[in-house]
Amino acid sequence: MKGSYDVVIIGGGVHGLSIAYYLGQMDKDLRVAVLDKGYLGGGASARSTAIIRSNYLTAEAIPFFRESHKLYQNLGSELEFNLLFDEMGRLDIGHTESSVYWLRLRAEFNQLLDVDSRIISPEEIKEIVPQIDLRAGKSLPIMAALYHPPAGVVRHDAVVWGFARGADRAGVEIHPFTEVTGITCKGDRVTGVETSSGPIATGIVVNATAGWSSTIAKMVGLDIPINTFPLQACVTEPVKPFVHTTISSADLHVYVYQTDRGELVIGGPVDPYSTYSQRSTLDMLHELATNTLELLPDLRDINIMRQWAGLCDMTPDYAPIIGFVDGIDGFLLNCGWGTWGFKAAPASGKTTAQLIITGKTPELIKSFGLSRFNDNRLVNERAAAIAAAIH
Ligand SMILES: Cc1cc2nc3c(=O)[nH]c(=O)nc-3n(C[C@H](O)[C@H](O)[C@H](O)COP(=O)(O)OP(=O)(O)OC[C@H]3O[C@@H](n4cnc5c(N)ncnc54)[C@H](O)[C@@H]3O)c2cc1C
Repeated sequence: MKGSYDVVIIGGGVHGLSIAYYLGQMDKDLRVAVLDKGYLGGGASARSTAIIRSNYLTAEAIPFFRESHKLYQNLGSELEFNLLFDEMGRLDIGHTESSVYWLRLRAEFNQLLDVDSRIISPEEIKEIVPQIDLRAGKSLPIMAALYHPPAGVVRHDAVVWGFARGADRAGVEIHPFTEVTGITCKGDRVTGVETSSGPIATGIVVNATAGWSSTIAKMVGLDIPINTFPLQACVTEPVKPFVHTTISSADLHVYVYQTDRGELVIGGPVDPYSTYSQRSTLDMLHELATNTLELLPDLRDINIMRQWAGLCDMTPDYAPIIGFVDGIDGFLLNCGWGTWGFKAAPASGKTTAQLIITGKTPELIKSFGLSRFNDNRLVNERAAAIAAAIH
């Protein structure tokens, strides 16, 4: 580790490494270091179920996630790394009239902004997933779904390692097991970071630490509107392939898809309390299993193999915070990725790198600055994140 760099990125998750990769592509002479207190991807990134989609709700989020989705489509070849990106499609199921209303609204906005998504009937849902339980008389009947054919799933650790290798090849230094313990400032300007391996001088510090981002912001005396919640998921033993799409139900608080190995990956909402613990709980396992069986009763005799949790950095408006902070020169936030950030990594990395190099905020992320919380310009992507699925 050197005594100084032009840019220090705190956090070796998918966002920190994506920023590093694009910085390396855009300016080979820039001296960049990524520091992580643990192993690469060991935060939320390697715990992610890594669903990629762009069927959001707002005029701010749809273009951003659409761009990220496009970048994912070519990312494997660009990084020369097999990311196992499988565009298996996605169904957001509506079980009540009010959910179907929101799904319809999303379909309209998606189509206006060139995202392939549409409302389909229960019969069409059954054609896509023959095992889905359409029986009448259930308390939450299946009324319709928002169908988003290009949605998919990517291999989370491959994305992390692909970005890391690409950044490394471009001359970025990556230092895992190096904890940032403090940030030094002179007046209102960042001058460096204190780490478990000694001090580093730098003019730009990027906070890409997701669930820990408010602890890093506190190092420069900044309170950011982020609360950290655990998010859990689990995986079953492998069975013959029978689900060929991702299925999500906000009313049931559950989503499920089947991997190439035949395992069913199941996830749901964040835990109902804020904590830094990454332990999974029996309560959540019970909730996920019960709710999955409402959709796919054939899974009733399947065993769960593993369950885990990761930390999510939730913002009040379910949109990220990206940009330099007014009044603390050189301090850049890239956080607020909550439960939906894996799909955002390519667009987030590229636009953040452009911002660092040009000093100008790219159009795609203009709405995501921290100042929106003071200026009352919240993005309100909550409807897409919660009313139609957590991810
Ligand atoms: C169970 C689960 C399922 C998910 N499913 C999806 C999904 O299907 N689709 C989707 O788009 N998103 C999903 N997400 C969200 C997504 O995974 C995250 O938003 C994304 O991975 C965040 O990446 P990151 O790089 O910002 O943070 P992280 O991967 O959490 O990386 C932050 C890093 O900062 C490091 N760090 C913290 N403090 C310090 C310090 N003081 N010094 C040095 N390093 C430090 C940590 O060690 C960590 O490695 C899911 C998340 C979870 C937990």
